[in-house]
Amino acid sequence: MGEHQEKLETKGYKLLGDHGAVSLCHWTKKSITENRTCYKQKFYGINSHRCLQMTPSIFCQQKCVFCWRPQTLSKTIPEDIDWLEPKELIEKALKAQKKLLEGYYGMLDDLNEQKLDQAQEPNQVAISLTGEPTIYPYMSELIKEFKKKDFTTFLVTNGLKPDLLENMELPTQLYVSLEAFSEELHKRINIPFEENSWQKIQRTLELLSELDTRTVIRTTLLKDWNMEEPEKFVPLFEKASPNFIELKAYMFIGSSRQRLSIGNMPRHYEVKEFAEEIVPELSEYEIEDEDSQSRVVLLRKEGAERKIQTPSGS
Ligand code: SF4
Repeated sequence: MGEHQEKLETKGYKLLGDHGAVSLCHWTKKSITENRTCYKQKFYGINSHRCLQMTPSIFCQQKCVFCWRPQTLSKTIPEDIDWLEPKELIEKALKAQKKLLEGYYGMLDDLNEQKLDQAQEPNQVAISLTGEPTIYPYMSELIKEFKKKDFTTFLVTNGLKPDLLENMELPTQLYVSLEAFSEELHKRINIPFEENSWQKIQRTLELLSELDTRTVIRTTLLKDWNMEEPEKFVPLFEKASPNFIELKAYMFIGSSRQRLSIGNMPRHYEVKEFAEEIVPELSEYEIEDEDSQSRVVLLRKEGAERKIQTPSGS
């Protein structure tokens, strides 16, 4: 096992082969133990306690300055990875999730035990744990397999694989992370080690407006980096024309503390101010909701349906 994989394991991740991972989301735990849920439950109606948080690829083509996950990997993605097939990967992920939930029995009252029982059968997958999921060579098949199992699927990508997005089975909700409004800022904030990365992101943004699924741009806001000129994001948001834009504060946690300072973490009211400045510049968006504990503001495009349909109803 490599150094990076070992580090992930010491942080409570369960590895899937030597390229994927599962971790119990903070909000899955909170939902089970304290009935507090994540902002995606509030915004879109998924159930935090039935959410499987996983990635099929712990490898990434960037080293974003704000990333709070361990960044011990080298810049090259190994060529000799023994990629698991989607079915096997999902089986292992579900098993790992069950294992991670085991310790909660005996700690809870009856009501929350019911929730814990339901958590054993996730119906929502957040493919966004660490690394870049689209590096996994069977991404499309993975989404299909999850759909066969009646999961709603949220996929988060850094936008570096437009050709894949153009042809793949699309998830229920496709997220593209966008923190930079210029190539120069992209190089400083995302630290890509792939050629033409900015051009690929631009292609992804163009594509986003054409894809037949729910689309979201998530912009992590960092003070002194990308918050000072909100209007610079306008052409990019307009080009992508996503159903939703999530403006979310950078959090001063995990390994990002070695690269940034607490002063880079905006308060919720600063995220709100950013949203209020940008909305009048956008042609079809309004502020739809916010969640102060996660310091996130949701912009919705006119006509976009906010709640997703959960296939199995709860
Ligand atoms: S949607 Fe994201 S934040 Fe919410 S429970 Fe799932 S992994 Fe956690």
